[in-house]
Amino acid sequence: MQKNNKALSVVIPLYNEEENILPLYAALKPVLEGMGINYEIIFIDDGSTDGTAAALEGLIADPDVLVLEFRRNFGQTAAFAAGFDHAIGEVIVTMDGDLQNDPSDIPKLYEMAGRYDLVSGWRKNRKDPFLNRRLPSAMANWLIGKVTGVKLHDYGCSLKAYRREVVNNLRLYGEMHRFIPAVANWYGVNVAEVVTTHHPRTRGKSKYGITRTVKVFLDLITVKFLQSFSTKPIQFFGPMGLASTAAGFAVSVYLAFQKLFLGKAIGGRPLLLLGVLLIIIGIQLIGMGLLGEMLVRVYHESQKKPIYTLRKVLGQGIGDRG
Ligand code: UDP
Ligand code: MG
Repeated sequence: MQKNNKALSVVIPLYNEEENILPLYAALKPVLEGMGINYEIIFIDDGSTDGTAAALEGLIADPDVLVLEFRRNFGQTAAFAAGFDHAIGEVIVTMDGDLQNDPSDIPKLYEMAGRYDLVSGWRKNRKDPFLNRRLPSAMANWLIGKVTGVKLHDYGCSLKAYRREVVNNLRLYGEMHRFIPAVANWYGVNVAEVVTTHHPRTRGKSKYGITRTVKVFLDLITVKFLQSFSTKPIQFFGPMGLASTAAGFAVSVYLAFQKLFLGKAIGGRPLLLLGVLLIIIGIQLIGMGLLGEMLVRVYHESQKKPIYTLRKVLGQGIGDRG
């Protein structure tokens, strides 16, 4: 059997995981060898301050290993982004570097990535503390599903498989890696979920606390906004602006009527303040929508980023498209 020379890239972010690297490599290698395909393992050292870099240097004797060393800690999302930028596999599998994900799930994900664009792991039997991990995570999954319309049991699972084209379209910011399935779905990518094995962390420390919940929530607002209105901000701000202006206008007309026809004093009435405020806010909201429209154009045109994504292009047309 001839091996596909760009079959699989495994992307693993590492931040202070010195004790996990060798056991992880030892568990990963036989699984990947057993798959009978060409593969690469991309380790991203996310600015570790322990022996992670040294441990990784010991692995580069293996020609299937690529190590990307960050200058400082940029975070897991940036580490994934770097991995995606450097990966050349047709399928890209991401996982944690602390052995909480099980390498033996990789063949299953790889196989499913032949049928789906994105396969997301589901840590159904998750081995993390309930109160500060599984509970906030369950609430987050529910909320993300509601808001984005892409319902998954486990957004936070790092073990995922992507087809190359999916990754090419992704631009990741903040803590955005958790929302990839939602973002990808909005590009028109089909997403599947599969139950994966999860283990408790046995070595090293977890890098996140409960404060992550706030960040995830703020990122969710961003994702929702971009998903719904990134190409039409005026449609988002406009209705609010119009409603506010109209309400303010109605209030003003009512007060003007009282003043002009009934001769009542309106100078001391709180309603006057409200009317003026509503008009000002309304005009500002419409102005924000218009500014947004300009930003959208700058964003898409400066990056030559189309407002659509193509699955494929078929046929020739009249030929050479340069
Ligand atoms: N990680 C990283 N950069 C960071 C934080 C974490 O690359 O700033 C890596 C970490 O080394 C691990 C993975 O991301 O491989 C998941 O982190 P962790 O196990 O701490 O998260 P948890 O499983 O507790 O949610
Ligand atoms: Mg972990």
